[in-house]
Amino acid sequence: MESNIKLGKLFGIEIGVNYSWFIIFFLITFSLWGQFSIEHEHWPAALPFVMAIVTSFLFFASLLAHELSHSLLALAKGLPVHSITLFVFGGVSRIGKEAMNAATEFWVGIIGPISSAVIAGLFYVVAALVGDPQSPVGAMAGWLALINLMLALFNLIPGYPLDGGRVLRAILWGATGSIQKATRIASLVGEGFAYLFIIGGIILAFRYNNLIGGLWLAFIGWFLRDAARSSQQAMIFERALKGVSVRQVMSSDVPNVPGHIPLTEFFEEYLMQTGRRCFIVMRDDRLTGLITAHEIKAVPRDQWAVTSIQQVMKPFETMKTVGPDTELLRVLEIMQREDLNQLPVVSDERLEGLVRREDVLRFINTRAEFDY
Ligand SMILES: [Zn+2]
Repeated sequence: MESNIKLGKLFGIEIGVNYSWFIIFFLITFSLWGQFSIEHEHWPAALPFVMAIVTSFLFFASLLAHELSHSLLALAKGLPVHSITLFVFGGVSRIGKEAMNAATEFWVGIIGPISSAVIAGLFYVVAALVGDPQSPVGAMAGWLALINLMLALFNLIPGYPLDGGRVLRAILWGATGSIQKATRIASLVGEGFAYLFIIGGIILAFRYNNLIGGLWLAFIGWFLRDAARSSQQAMIFERALKGVSVRQVMSSDVPNVPGHIPLTEFFEEYLMQTGRRCFIVMRDDRLTGLITAHEIKAVPRDQWAVTSIQQVMKPFETMKTVGPDTELLRVLEIMQREDLNQLPVVSDERLEGLVRREDVLRFINTRAEFDY
């Protein structure tokens, strides 16, 4: 989940919002505006709208507090936390590492629903102190208490990657001693709940004519199914690549080409003759850049004769590089983030080789096949 709008840093954690979050913000504001207008006819004309916006922002703050509780506990347990992103179905904390033991995983998971329950309690106290549920603050606090309680309960559903799923995973992990087995079961339960949501959503939409509510539930189910699958995959990746360095998978025999030749020659003599997709561009024995099939494809064919490799290559200075001892997991992260298929491996300003996405994936597949 990408942060499209960065709000700033809290406790060293990047806080951001994905564009999809605006959907939920407008939906909530709009439905609260309607609800307040109908239930509180005596309020002055603009008040339902103003209170709807204020309530939406406080809901946003509640979600953020929920995510912060996960992140701060993770930080306290020594796990690095990169960012928190709010999006259409809630929030995600990007924690850089798996918990080192089941107890940590348990607490990092359970703290979320606990925080939401505490926030619900605080709003309930506010509502009780105000006394009058017809007053603007009373109505607002009442709604926020209810929604945070629902948030706590929803997150307790024991399907990974929901908080309850993390708790289930931690318990299974503690009981079986195997994080893989625990993740596999918790993810399967998560997928099961995801399908229940989808089916429930369809029934709600067509049997009970609640199209919006049904669609919403089905979408949440769809998202959870994807999240359950990809978090299991992330675990397999992390496990397969743990402690593995670039040196183990890089290829050191990367063919090179002179930079001054035209693309026609490069295509005929190198690309088509070797079947390799990536070449080092040299000038006077010095590495100047990389050229791949991707770059040549971007140039119209009738320009190939008058375009040299140098003109279209990726210059070395602008490239991200890694060292031979860089962890492979980190390399995969860089590749995914920067949308790259290969990275030059450099040590002491000398090119040692190339690490390619396919090499990394092959490595993961082989290890995963044997559950190594
Ligand atoms: Zn949570």
